[in-house]
Amino acid sequence: MTQKLKAKSYQLNIGWLYPELMSTYGDKGNIMTLQKRCEWRGIEVKIINIDQRSKIPDLKTIDLLFAGGAQDREQSIVIQNLKKHETEIRKLIEKEVPALFVCGAPQLFGKYYEPSIGKRLDGLGIFDIETIHAGPQKKRLTGNVIAKIINKNILNTKYPILHSGIIVGFENHGGRTYLGKYAKPFAMVIKGYGNNGEDGTEGVVYKNAIGSYLHGPLLPKNPGIADWLITKAITTKYKQKVTLAPLDNAVSNQAKSVIARRLGIKL
Ligand code: GLN
Repeated sequence: MTQKLKAKSYQLNIGWLYPELMSTYGDKGNIMTLQKRCEWRGIEVKIINIDQRSKIPDLKTIDLLFAGGAQDREQSIVIQNLKKHETEIRKLIEKEVPALFVCGAPQLFGKYYEPSIGKRLDGLGIFDIETIHAGPQKKRLTGNVIAKIINKNILNTKYPILHSGIIVGFENHGGRTYLGKYAKPFAMVIKGYGNNGEDGTEGVVYKNAIGSYLHGPLLPKNPGIADWLITKAITTKYKQKVTLAPLDNAVSNQAKSVIARRLGIKL
């Protein structure tokens, strides 16, 4: 039975991984979107920064995990510390805590990331993906992207992902990500490069963890994904199905339509 959400009845701890090192291209906007879309519904939110100074227990309290993008240099710094949290992060993902990892973050949550210069960074292996930077001479995969979510775990939720799964964002990465046989793509690009500019896939999903190349930031223009993450976080934490109160998404829809139109697509 779906529990009607009562104001002030839920509280979520959102874990923000390495906010000072991994927040390129305004990815902080994703945290702000999650926080506001909770508060507007009376869901209490606490943002917990998880970085080199955090102790392991901090992760045990996390209900929703986020990490933004980063350049190669920051990724090589983060991975040293991220490995220390590997067991706890894996436990969260395995118990279906939702997560959003953007660009440089999912690269580190895959099997490995080979940066433009320097040695391979072994990842956490949560996503069955491998990423190889094409090198400083090759073009970066950059530009506006419009894609369609194909992952059933996300599309099948009662919560409507606006525009039947059409999402927009901005990508800027040298790394080319290839999905392994167990990896499920998040979306398929309609216009843009996506994971590698070859197979049309964008991002990856494992349980309730989404990896995506879409900056923008992603969530303000695609609030259905934010609501999916919040819904999953409440369901996993309280073991209750919830229906979030609808919000006025007019501004988000307008922003999404502007990007789509720039790509020649009318939503
Ligand atoms: N440094 C990584 C790459 O170039 C990730 C970049 C990013 O997070 N925008 O692919």
